[in-house]
Amino acid sequence: MKTSAEIAAFVSDAAHRAGFDLAGIAPATQFPEHACFPPWIAAGRAGEMHYLEARGEDGRFKREALAQIAPWARSVIVCAMNYHTSPASDAAPDDSSRGWISRYAWSQRDYHDVLMDSLRQMESALHEFAGKPLETRCYVDTGPLLERVFARYAGVGWIGKNTCIINQQLGSWLFLGVILTSLELPPALPAPDRCGSCRRCIDACPTNALVAPYELDARRCISYLTIEKRGEVPEELRAGMGRQVFGCDLCQDVCPWNGQAPVTAAPELQARPKLVAPELEWLATITEDDFRDIFRGSPIKRAKRSGLRRNAIVALGNSNQVHFENCLVALSNDPDPSAASHARWALRRLRTACPGAAAKQPADPPEEP
Ligand code: SF4
Ligand code: SF4
Repeated sequence: MKTSAEIAAFVSDAAHRAGFDLAGIAPATQFPEHACFPPWIAAGRAGEMHYLEARGEDGRFKREALAQIAPWARSVIVCAMNYHTSPASDAAPDDSSRGWISRYAWSQRDYHDVLMDSLRQMESALHEFAGKPLETRCYVDTGPLLERVFARYAGVGWIGKNTCIINQQLGSWLFLGVILTSLELPPALPAPDRCGSCRRCIDACPTNALVAPYELDARRCISYLTIEKRGEVPEELRAGMGRQVFGCDLCQDVCPWNGQAPVTAAPELQARPKLVAPELEWLATITEDDFRDIFRGSPIKRAKRSGLRRNAIVALGNSNQVHFENCLVALSNDPDPSAASHARWALRRLRTACPGAAAKQPADPPEEP
């Protein structure tokens, strides 16, 4: 019979051998945070992410109670991998002709695959360690469970006011992966909340998506708008999107716990130079072939070419760069109706910000139908 300390040491060692930076154990139970999920959905804050509303056999949301998807689970091992590659100032100068792709999408290989390989390695070690038959299941990001809640109770980090998991040493640039197991393992202590009176993330959010501390309205969040939202981006939110073309790091960039965040050594998570602050004009006009080739094995594919172009067009409108006017005039006639309508908005915005622009361009784009 292993002691709690031996089990905790095994989990930590196995996680490090598999390439994780942190790991902890939470009991497979329901926590107070789970109770916030149904009202969050009921308030419509999940927007069009209807997959979050999947229900179990008893009619409750699957994300509300782990027992609905894995009644046999007794423990949740939560693993975290640092994906921080460089400070924002080094990564991309503040150049409004370049877009911003969220850091988590820069990696050489899709993080889902990287983490799943590491989880599988840990899973095998766990089976060996247990020395008896047991059930396990691994998830990276796509399972119907609230990883952050279990991460908190596994001691990996606290849930910050920006709703991200924050670790006192590593900050919040963390990918999470979980292993559900039928083994009853000794749980860690939950990580204490260290946000204190800080509210930098709330103040920095350009679309007021953090409607209160720890409360995100996804419909206003740039991550949702640039990745999950199809079709038209609500006009009143476009200016706030700034130069974000895929995801948004602003509420993490300002977090003081990320000020000294260490840089990851994981080779597969190093940044692809092409994805760090890409040229907006290139993205707005990217061909189908280039999109497929360049974003192969990248989470950016989730936005699809149409969504990425739409986002880049919005960013062109926000750029204050008069030399993008001709590009936007051409895009106003784009065969993709979403690209065309966003380009007409972007052109109006650019011309308002740079009054000299329209004078140089006699041909106005066609009016929106
Ligand atoms: S990711 Fe961006 S838009 Fe979303 S809450 Fe953070 S700062 Fe606001
Ligand atoms: S910026 Fe401040 S309030 Fe927001 S998550 Fe970080 S420490 Fe917490």
